[in-house]
Amino acid sequence: MPVAAPGIDTTPEVVYDGAPLKPASEVFKSYGKHIFTGKLAEYFLKKNGGSLAMFEDSTWVKDRTKADIIAAAILDWAVAHGAITYCHWFQPMGSAGVRHGQTGQVYDQMLKFDSKTYELKYDFDGGDLVKGETDGSSYPNGGLRATHTAGGYLAIDCSSPIFLRGDTIFIPSIFVSYYGMALDEKTPVLRANDALSNQGKRLLSKLGLETTGLKANIGLEQEIFLIPRDQYYRRPDLQFTGRTIMGKYAPRDQEMCDHYMAPLSNASPALNCMKEIQKECWKMGIPLKTRHREVAPNQYEFAPLFGTNTGQIDQNLIVMQVIEEIAAKHGLAALLQEKPFDGINGSGKHNNWSISTLEEVQLFVPKAINAACGSHSAFPVIMAAVVAAVDTHGDLMRMAIASPGNDFRLGACEAPPAIITTYLGDDMTNYLEAFMNGEDKEYTPNTRTIDVGISGVEAFTVPAEDRNRTSPFPYGGARFEFRAVGSSQNVSMVNTVLNAMCAEKFGEFADKIEAGEEPVAVARAALKEHWKVIFNGNGYDLGNQQMLTDKGCWRIDSGVEAMSVITADKNVALFEKLGVMTAVECKARQDVMHEHYTGTVVMEAATMIDMINQHVIPSLHAAGGEDEALPKAVETLKHALEEIEECEEQEAQAKLARVLRLETMVELRKLCDAAEAVVPSHLWTLATYKELLFLDSHTHGPGA
Ligand code: ADP
Ligand code: MG
Repeated sequence: MPVAAPGIDTTPEVVYDGAPLKPASEVFKSYGKHIFTGKLAEYFLKKNGGSLAMFEDSTWVKDRTKADIIAAAILDWAVAHGAITYCHWFQPMGSAGVRHGQTGQVYDQMLKFDSKTYELKYDFDGGDLVKGETDGSSYPNGGLRATHTAGGYLAIDCSSPIFLRGDTIFIPSIFVSYYGMALDEKTPVLRANDALSNQGKRLLSKLGLETTGLKANIGLEQEIFLIPRDQYYRRPDLQFTGRTIMGKYAPRDQEMCDHYMAPLSNASPALNCMKEIQKECWKMGIPLKTRHREVAPNQYEFAPLFGTNTGQIDQNLIVMQVIEEIAAKHGLAALLQEKPFDGINGSGKHNNWSISTLEEVQLFVPKAINAACGSHSAFPVIMAAVVAAVDTHGDLMRMAIASPGNDFRLGACEAPPAIITTYLGDDMTNYLEAFMNGEDKEYTPNTRTIDVGISGVEAFTVPAEDRNRTSPFPYGGARFEFRAVGSSQNVSMVNTVLNAMCAEKFGEFADKIEAGEEPVAVARAALKEHWKVIFNGNGYDLGNQQMLTDKGCWRIDSGVEAMSVITADKNVALFEKLGVMTAVECKARQDVMHEHYTGTVVMEAATMIDMINQHVIPSLHAAGGEDEALPKAVETLKHALEEIEECEEQEAQAKLARVLRLETMVELRKLCDAAEAVVPSHLWTLATYKELLFLDSHTHGPGA
């Protein structure tokens, strides 16, 4: 029997690693056939005179002969799957918000006409593959480009795999200006990866481990809402802004805790939708392994297997797009915004983060790193660097999660507060404390045995540490989990910050060791200096929050102010020193964040005006009621919008927008919700919380 390439549909039975797959394993057959990596890539590369090793060494980009071979292999693969189009796929700055996972893409067909015979031919070479050019001056760029200097350049990012969807090959790319300034989310994270690798390599070498480099791995848990699409169309606010700007609470929401991980029935459109999302992602080599219901009604979660950060960021953007598209096919609307509904849980995107060497030694796994370095003090040195980084740059971590949607989520009962600390657990904290005070021994995580006293259930062991959901940045065995990240975010900035801040500390530690200090002495001093940032208690407790604030932990309640810290001297110095961003790039990004914030609020206020005029007032009238405060509310909103428009400076505008949104609009909402409470349901023209959340995506009919 001929051995077909994995992932190619030309034979009915796909052969993988020499073993034919059983019919039941449909899922294996389709896995990864739309991603150009591994065995599949190898098959096409070999066929076209190349090899996987050649492709995996990114220097091929500079070698036209090799690039042509690789382009031929990709074209071959594309054609086998009916794709005749390609695009350089990029992430313009500020690519988050209402249109989620917004990515830039201009499509070109891989075709040409022969100049003599006029015959139609395939046309895609190494030059097309490695670089593209676009105008795109209309993207937010924070003043980095004007329309008369609008050139934008796209260059392939070899750290993230090429994938295929529909008739198109997507080539992950960076997007920079004529002068090489980052116009996208991706360039800074790639630069931060290099910094982390270089500085980490130096430190590890001092700790006894020679490595070719380091990488950061992440796994992104994605929370979403799936609501009935017909009801979604009855909510201008959801359509335009992604969140409900008004809406009386339903008589029931999370009181019963009956949604979390509840069953997904087979008849449920949500289950079918989730399955199709998984299947679609699976084809593109995105192992969206976990699916379950979340805490709020109609809230769900997906989680993939973790991998290299840039690949995961890109795949998460695809996942968000796929979720929105497939939801529509199932009569559902997907809401990725952080806080679509007031009064119930919002959605996050936990950024699970770890560092490993390119040889796969995990830096946050005590046994692994100690063994590789041949010293039991390697692990505490690395932990000390991370602790110091969180304490020094907690403001940047807060900046990285500042988004319009997260405004309503941080500090509320479902997300950690806007105070940045790290939870290490008592076990590890005790160990590090003893280490700091001079003790010198190996950390061996304790375990606990749980014996429930039932004859049919054997006693079992669990980690000594419980979970702490109130911490923004808990350690969890092999990784840290940045829990405060918002669901709609492109997490590039989050990971730029995590990697840059660690790169800095790794570098500082290496410098000191080079200057003659002992590694453990450097780590002990750092722990002493930064100990306050370790906090294992309940972060929701107001007393604790005050205590942490008094101790001087980073606390920035306002998202708009958090966005501004990117240009603080300390932070510009960090980014410049590591080659991650220049001062000009930092300022551009700050402006884009503020503009995006203001733009979001302006849309929300304009939508509120329409909803009051077109729905709330007419419904109230139809019911024979009147409230003079409603027309006044419209005037207030209009006035506030004018004020924002008159203001020239981005940060000042955003500050006004924040007051409008978190104070004025919150007050005005009460009037709308009071009207809703007295209007008979057949006269109320907007979809209610009951209809959005309990005409449930889970059972088709009205919820239980
Ligand atoms: P939980 O948060 O419930 O403990 P999991 O253990 O399933 O969930 O992990 C959540 C996410 O963290 C997944 O996407 C997983 O792939 C990712 N993850 C697990 N280990 C690591 C690691 N070492 N580095 C980065 N991400 C990881
Ligand atoms: Mg988690």
